[in-house]
Amino acid sequence: MVDFTSSSDASTLTAADDVLVRWVRADQLLSVRRSVRAVVPSGMAVGLAAAGVALYSSASSTEPLAWLLLVVLSNAFRAFVCRSVRASERSPGGLDELGIAGQLRLVTLSSFLSGCVWALLPMFCSSEVPSQTLFFMTVVCGVCAGSVIYSAAYAPVPVVFVTPALLSVTGWLLWTGGFYHNALALMVVMYLGTLVHASLRGDRAYQVSSRLKNEALFMASELRQTHAQSSRTARELDFRANHDSLTGLFNREGFFEAASRFDHAMGSRHDHAALMLDLDGFKAVNDAFGHKTGDQVLQDVGRWLQARLAKHDAVVGRWGGDEFAVFYHPRGEQVGQGGKEGHEGQGAQGPHQGPDAPEAVAEELIRSIGQATSSYGGQLGLSIGICTGHDCSVAEMLSFSDEALYEAKRLGRNRCHRFDHALHSRLLSRRDIERDLAEAIASNAICVWYQPILGEGGHRLHSLEALLRWQHPRHGWVAPADVIYAAANTGLAERLLRHILGEICKGIEQLSAAGARFDDVPVAMNVSPREMAQLPVDAIVLDCLAKHGLPTHRLQIEITEEVALDTSAAKMRLRALAEAGISIVIDDFGVGYSSLASLRGEHVRQVKIDRSFILNLASSPGSRLMVEAVIRLGQSLFIEVVAEGVENREELEALKALGSPLLQGYYFMRPAPLAKVIAWAEQREDAATAQS
Ligand code: C2E
Ligand code: CA
Ligand code: CA
Repeated sequence: MVDFTSSSDASTLTAADDVLVRWVRADQLLSVRRSVRAVVPSGMAVGLAAAGVALYSSASSTEPLAWLLLVVLSNAFRAFVCRSVRASERSPGGLDELGIAGQLRLVTLSSFLSGCVWALLPMFCSSEVPSQTLFFMTVVCGVCAGSVIYSAAYAPVPVVFVTPALLSVTGWLLWTGGFYHNALALMVVMYLGTLVHASLRGDRAYQVSSRLKNEALFMASELRQTHAQSSRTARELDFRANHDSLTGLFNREGFFEAASRFDHAMGSRHDHAALMLDLDGFKAVNDAFGHKTGDQVLQDVGRWLQARLAKHDAVVGRWGGDEFAVFYHPRGEQVGQGGKEGHEGQGAQGPHQGPDAPEAVAEELIRSIGQATSSYGGQLGLSIGICTGHDCSVAEMLSFSDEALYEAKRLGRNRCHRFDHALHSRLLSRRDIERDLAEAIASNAICVWYQPILGEGGHRLHSLEALLRWQHPRHGWVAPADVIYAAANTGLAERLLRHILGEICKGIEQLSAAGARFDDVPVAMNVSPREMAQLPVDAIVLDCLAKHGLPTHRLQIEITEEVALDTSAAKMRLRALAEAGISIVIDDFGVGYSSLASLRGEHVRQVKIDRSFILNLASSPGSRLMVEAVIRLGQSLFIEVVAEGVENREELEALKALGSPLLQGYYFMRPAPLAKVIAWAEQREDAATAQS
């Protein structure tokens, strides 16, 4: 409720008060006009009767007729002044302050003139004929009472009417004199006073009730406005909460809601299709043309998608970054029995056919993406993951199509891939892995195995590589990369890194305890570029070594160059580690992003030639050249070179012939628990000693 008296905002209060005063005045005007209009016919009738009596009693007919004419004129003027007004003027805001005041003055004037006409009536009275006097006195008093009763809304109107009429009566009574006339004059004056008082009271009462009514109206209109405003704001907030500000498409929340509504409306008997789209090469456009252009591209793609998919009544959303999501109901025919082609629910039919089929829609988008982005060179591609089904939730379908998108990208981008049974079981095992990871770390189910790296053609133990191992109770041995990926997805990356590092430190202690020959054998720990960029690896590593009282030369950090190590944070951490005395190893050398450039960093102590070169050593002259070049490069830059994945004698001999780098591979030993590796190394050394 709007409180007009206690509003804290003074200006609002004044404005509201001004409005209310105007509305009350307008009400008074309206009411007084209506009442005057209503009283005019009876005024005329009474005037006519009075004139008739005057004609009957007067010697001359001129004065009564003249008076009657005045009655007619004054009433006509009143009727004109108080004529019916337009609806717009009748509404509270219809007339302005000045307009209302002017109209009220005019009504008052007409009332005054009318009162003056009635003030002339005593001239027809004769002091000798009391009944005549009684008639005219009664008429005037009656007309005055009527005026007060009718025009109670606005006091000036009856007051200016009754005052001249009754004063004239009083004057006539006093003029004729005599006790009864004087007493009657006194009564008339008192009567006048009563009428004026009643008019003023009526006016006040009317104002109070009109103000109350208008306050209610004002509040109602304020409430309506506030409601309209808050509805607008709510709609705007709702739009913002559910839409992406850049493209105007649904954001994740909005997409879920719209797709779920759509899903619900279609019912569970119909198949739905979820498509997850990712622009290929968007990063390059962003890097080359800047973020503004990147935003423009995303907007263009958003518009293009909406236009292209309108015919399928699809729900289209931006999933974040350069990813978009689509949900629709393919109307085309379904053939055969499903199960092999896609992830279909119970009782599902085969894949759709026709232009509405998800593959057809996806391929059409992939073919025409160039049109959407032609102004930027049309360099963009599109990878799409597809999932169809009718008994899965929207969230599940999106997560399945995301999995399929990942596979489409893995298979070479710019293509679509359907979520199938293979992907489904992979997804299930990944979910199990993510679910069980924390427990596996806590219970030491995740441990570290070691693989030796050998020098002098395979005769001397040079170092060990630590490799993560986890045998999942349901899924068996989990690839280390999948464990790292799951940790990154579940926010456990740092815990896992600390755990592995702790295990490695214990391993180094175990090595020292095994004998002096292992005192100088360093252990290499794998760290992914992503871990290096996102975790304070330098601080964690140095802290852990210090806690175990281990010298920094006992640890090596092996980093894969699968992506350009271009974040300054990662570079700084590597430098900090190198300066602390830890050897930095570049893993999988030759297949990385900018391998040669990485060697310029003076902190690199070792490179590991990727196994793919060793594998092709005999058959591929290119691989031979590469291996030879890296060995030479290592020699001239004083960087150790390790050949990874040596599996047989031929590979070993070929490597020896090329300059004998450090060696690692199944040919020597597969990764194993540390105790086994120590036993293997001891046995090997003892055998070598015995031979010599
Ligand atoms: P990587 O660093 O290149 O490790 C060498 C991989 O090749 C190991 O696989 C090892 O078992 C395998 N290998 C060794 N010799 C041979 C051989 O002669 N022939 C063949 N075919 N393979 C050989 P693994 O243990 O499955 O590790 C795979 C990858 O997982 C590693 O590749 C490394 O990038 C990553 N990884 C392992 N442990 C960790 C870890 O603790 N942290 C991080 N960030 N990554 C790890
Ligand atoms: Ca490695
Ligand atoms: Ca490697």
